[in-house]
Amino acid sequence: MSNPTKVAFIGSECYPFIKTGGLGDVMYALPKALTAQGCEVRVFVPKYHCIPQKWRDLMVFRGNFYIPLCSDGKQYYVGIMEYINDGVIYDFIENDEFFSWGKPYTDLYADIPKYCYFSKASLDAMLYMNWIPDIIHCHDWQAALVPVYLKTLFSQSELRGAKSVLTIHNLRFQGMCSEDHLRYWSGLPDEAFKGENLSQGYNAVNMMKGGLAYADKITTVSRTYAYEIQTDFYGERLNGHLSYHSGKLTGIVNGIDCDIWNPATDSHIPVQYDAENVIAKKAQDKEALQERLGLEKDSGKFVIGLISRLTDQKGLDLINAIMPQIVDDNTQVAILGTGDKFYEDSFRWYEETNKGKVCSCIMYDEDLSHEIYASADALLVPSLFEPCGLTQLIAMRYGTVPIVRETGGLKDTVEPYNKYEDCGNGFTFDRYESYLLLDAVNRAKELYFSNRSSWDKMVVRDMNKDVSWNNSAKQYLELYQQLG
Ligand code: ADP
Repeated sequence: MSNPTKVAFIGSECYPFIKTGGLGDVMYALPKALTAQGCEVRVFVPKYHCIPQKWRDLMVFRGNFYIPLCSDGKQYYVGIMEYINDGVIYDFIENDEFFSWGKPYTDLYADIPKYCYFSKASLDAMLYMNWIPDIIHCHDWQAALVPVYLKTLFSQSELRGAKSVLTIHNLRFQGMCSEDHLRYWSGLPDEAFKGENLSQGYNAVNMMKGGLAYADKITTVSRTYAYEIQTDFYGERLNGHLSYHSGKLTGIVNGIDCDIWNPATDSHIPVQYDAENVIAKKAQDKEALQERLGLEKDSGKFVIGLISRLTDQKGLDLINAIMPQIVDDNTQVAILGTGDKFYEDSFRWYEETNKGKVCSCIMYDEDLSHEIYASADALLVPSLFEPCGLTQLIAMRYGTVPIVRETGGLKDTVEPYNKYEDCGNGFTFDRYESYLLLDAVNRAKELYFSNRSSWDKMVVRDMNKDVSWNNSAKQYLELYQQLG
């Protein structure tokens, strides 16, 4: 493989331009970490209309052309708008017909054409720019057709030598539709639809399934999730397919960008701190947050944070079930999230009935998330399933003790507190039961209120834990090199 390794990233979101969850963080931080390790990385992302103007103003026109997309050969415009930052080149694929609506997703029926176009246009953009990568690293179902295109429509192109890696960030989302719909929009040849690679039942196809079959390597974002998705419970009906392809499947845990998430320099928080002065300074941040959110101002209270998409994946049913038992005169809860109306309304109700003790911020707010990470004592992540999870990593970086369910990346990144040896990073529970979550919360409270010196030592231990991309980026690099 050439040195430096040339890597193309293809995915549907990328911080700071557009982010709805952890995928956006990874699409930003991993290319940056790989660049630091000597790779040449280009990131391909749609130029959605909802990308803030300040970023659109920085993009430079790189070229345009037309591609045939659908099975009837209909032509579509492709514009390439470029932005370079920290040595990473971002190529935004422009087409108003597909990307001028949605935030950025709409409904699956409309999103399928959008991401067929995006996958194919990204490959054509590489050819147009005469930039031939060694590795094409695709992310989630939105880019899962890329390996299929590479081995069919692009098999005679200059890209024929490029190897593909498909990373599963969340197996729940797969891009399923009728075969006719995908046949039309993808323009893929008949051979792609033969056999079991794309098909899933009568006249149904699954883009993720196809990508997994055609990719040279599959990765997912933790070792435990790589194992779990081969089981019935977590496999989202692809467990058999994944077991069949398990020889090319590995789990590499995510990191976080330690420049963005750095309490010593974070301009979003009132009082910066490091591992030396965290105990005193974090208390000041806590009081500032309490004031901002209308919680009773007292740094002696135990503040539990929740920063999450509000969906059933995140274990919110468990939290709902025990909320009255979590909140008391010494315990407050600060919630930041958006999502399913049912959860939004239940958290609003808990705020209404526990004024001064519970605050539910039903919104997406990057700045406020920094404040909560910095100010809370503990962060809840009791997920039903969690491929990797970033919030527990960010929490530890800010000396906020995670309370997590032992699943996926939560299991791989949070070592349970052991009171006999005074080690560990957080509080954990295994089965998906509300009383076990309550028990974990109570163990946290007990340590906080009755053995503060051990609690404080855990806070410092968490801040010193390596949650950066360094190790994981090296593992990706090794994987790329195996493919060379
Ligand atoms: P997922 O990708 O399943 O949503 P992750 O834990 O991998 O979960 O990543 C979530 C990311 O989104 C984190 O960076 C978290 O801080 C951020 N986030 C989630 N909800 C919000 C919100 N309402 N406001 C701001 N940031 C949020």
